[in-house]
Amino acid sequence: MAQGKDSLQQILDDVASAAFATPDRGRVADYIPELARVNPDQFAVAVARPGKKTMFAGDAHTPFSIQSVSKVFTLALALGKVGDRLWARVGREPSGQAFDSMILLEQEKGRPRNPFINAGAIVTTDTVLAGSSPRETLGSLLRFVRAAAGDDNIHINESVAQSEITTGHRNFALAHFLLSHGNLANAPDLVLGTYFHQCAIEMTCTQLANAGLFLVGDKAAPRLVSPDRIRRINALMMTCGHYDGSGDYAYRVGLPGKSGVGGGILTIVPGIASVAVWSPGLNNYGNSKLGTEAMQRFADMTGWSVFGSR
Ligand code: GLU
Repeated sequence: MAQGKDSLQQILDDVASAAFATPDRGRVADYIPELARVNPDQFAVAVARPGKKTMFAGDAHTPFSIQSVSKVFTLALALGKVGDRLWARVGREPSGQAFDSMILLEQEKGRPRNPFINAGAIVTTDTVLAGSSPRETLGSLLRFVRAAAGDDNIHINESVAQSEITTGHRNFALAHFLLSHGNLANAPDLVLGTYFHQCAIEMTCTQLANAGLFLVGDKAAPRLVSPDRIRRINALMMTCGHYDGSGDYAYRVGLPGKSGVGGGILTIVPGIASVAVWSPGLNNYGNSKLGTEAMQRFADMTGWSVFGSR
């Protein structure tokens, strides 16, 4: 990439203009009623680099529901708490299935394929919850996210959490199935209450980009996990961060990323930057349609893919 602040800002402006001009904006998630109300015309991108000012374009100060992007933070906490013992309960392979699928869970006797599909995230939340109350667990998670972002103005949207508590039957099914295989230590309603609240954390694109800095692996970034763990979490984001669209994201963008059905994607450029993008409409994999397209354009323009520039 051409060096200098202006060139990166130009890339962000270009990416945002292309996104705002795209007529097919995907479909907003409607299985969580509160998310169905979000205006699909919105788009934002933000880039945080260690020791530098965060840059952005579009609606970068509008809070959105981070949903499954939260699974990255919970994974960091779970690994901090139990270390590699986590892998006895959850795998590290892409699932090739939808985010809420049950098929493999049944075949593999209650051990979820990875910590980023719903079943795996329910296990990591259960791990973090062990020995504390949901309130304490959510408090620790919020403290972690706020410390990562360097911003205390990050909160949980209670209406979104309640909306999912009343409609999240598939997640209840997954939790009960895990319990039947002895892979849940706490009661399903406690684990899911915590999980739904963690998914209901709201952040703006600039906050999310800042919150991802701890995964960049630069000395000037917040040191919340060890370099060894940064490498492992990034590997999981690259291979499993977009559900059955993980291969597609790696092909198009070439960077570790984690999506959420709120339309947010957190992408890490190892050693360089943390990038957040948000547009509420989703593609067929349940990942932000314009967000994915924007990140492809961004990676092409910056040459920041880990697989090389063109
Ligand atoms: N709270 C959502 C669910 O469990 C998260 C899914 C996602 O963001 O991909 O269904």
